[in-house]
Amino acid sequence: MTVRDGIVYLVGAGPGDPGLMTSRSLELIAAADTIFFDRLIPPGALDGAREDADLVYVGKRPPDGAKPAAALPVSTRQAISSVPQEEINDRLVEAGLAGRTVVRLKGGDPFVFGRGGEEGEALRAAGVDFEVVPGVTAGVAASAYAGIPVTHRGDASAVAFVTGHEDPDKGETALDWEALAGFPGTLVFYMGVRRLANNAAALIAAGRNPDEPAAAIERGTTTGQRTVVATLNTLAEEVEREAIGAPALIVVGEVVERRETLAWLERRPLHGRRVVVTRARAQASGLAATLRGLGAEVVELPAIRIESQIDSDEVSRAVDAIHSYALICLTSPNGVRLLFEALAAAGLDARALANATVAAIGPGTARELAARGIEADVVPERFVAEALVEALADVEVSGRPVLVARAAEARDVLPEALRERGAEVDVIALYRTVREEPEPGAVEAAQSADYVTFTSSSTVTNLTEALNGRFPAAARVVSIGPITSDAARAAGLEVHVEAERHDIDGLLDALVADAAED
Ligand code: SAH
Repeated sequence: MTVRDGIVYLVGAGPGDPGLMTSRSLELIAAADTIFFDRLIPPGALDGAREDADLVYVGKRPPDGAKPAAALPVSTRQAISSVPQEEINDRLVEAGLAGRTVVRLKGGDPFVFGRGGEEGEALRAAGVDFEVVPGVTAGVAASAYAGIPVTHRGDASAVAFVTGHEDPDKGETALDWEALAGFPGTLVFYMGVRRLANNAAALIAAGRNPDEPAAAIERGTTTGQRTVVATLNTLAEEVEREAIGAPALIVVGEVVERRETLAWLERRPLHGRRVVVTRARAQASGLAATLRGLGAEVVELPAIRIESQIDSDEVSRAVDAIHSYALICLTSPNGVRLLFEALAAAGLDARALANATVAAIGPGTARELAARGIEADVVPERFVAEALVEALADVEVSGRPVLVARAAEARDVLPEALRERGAEVDVIALYRTVREEPEPGAVEAAQSADYVTFTSSSTVTNLTEALNGRFPAAARVVSIGPITSDAARAAGLEVHVEAERHDIDGLLDALVADAAED
């Protein structure tokens, strides 16, 4: 029997924004048997890990004694607190020798104040194979997200990465303050918040200009990023006043002034706002991505879930008769998805709809159809059943078989109107909307939300029931339209913002306008 050789990947996870993880890191996380991870890894960094992987937290308490970074949550299946570096080295060696594929996941870059070099040395000494996967380091990334280029023609032609917190075992500081004071470029201090006042004084004493622009960037690249700008002489005071805490980076240099023009993240309309999305998980991603693009921190708290009912007799009967319908009406993107699943299960495809007029209730439904090769014949301007009824006025239905494929709990406006016009209407329920039990972590995160968005009355009723009195107290309620607003008021909520256009873009416009007002 041959034993497979183990390998340890020393992987940088970047500074906090999950989008800054490298594709190599994601690939290795997905393949690993064991992942040893730190505290400062991006939220969701381990989501792609294998179901059976061992996830081991080996975070050291941060040297700045920071409060736990609530916004950087990680799931742990096994937790060890405050693990000394030697023990981490031993565990990496042990796992490697046992033939495992190991990822050692660290914030930023593993070789920039990450002790990755020490781990590599321990692995080499033990004869364990390793690979280093660089990450985007905070010094570059947090600065960039704050609108500070660490080099800039005319301002700085060099940049130094400096630790602001020397190893306590070393006693006297090993930093050469004279050299740093004379350094011809930008100084970026990692781990420097706690000793900021001392370090700034040491730099000034060694001859650095006290009026040089300086910035502190807290939780850079995350939705909670905050930046304060002052001078070398006054930054410590400002940092204290604004209660900037770890993880934070100190940048000293003329380049800090570029921020006046180049700041971008903190200028986004929803930066610093926490917004709850209550749509079913399957539909939440588009809304969540747009909100994130606007700078919001999104908490996904799905209130409802779609439960397929395509195994029912009524659905099989309709699928068997699919070629005979003169008109097929689809009233939601989910309906399209499930109708095609039901067709596929019967060995059919888009050609089954070839003879029918196809109507979609709105653009989202029409897009789902288009993705399956069907251009809807009828799409009303407003997406409510009444509008679809109007839009169908010119379609001849009298005496003809019509299929209305929809959700179990839909209103009967459409089938009734079609029957009045003499159609032989079959109504099938492709799915039911059922309540989703909220995850405790998401409920917790939602408590401090600035906004809760509702895109349908079923999200309102299901969420308020599921939260059972724990509705976020200070959140402003944003509703997609009057029917949803009525449901919110019936559930005892005040509606602060109602969209003028009753679709997702309309809801986003209303939310952004409201946020601009405070
Ligand atoms: N290997 C990491 C640095 C680890 S040292 C890297 O390459 O980025 C930890 C220090 O990094 C923190 O004290 C802080 O100064 C800095 N840091 C890490 N993440 C940060 C973030 N999101 N924003 C600001 N500073 C950060």
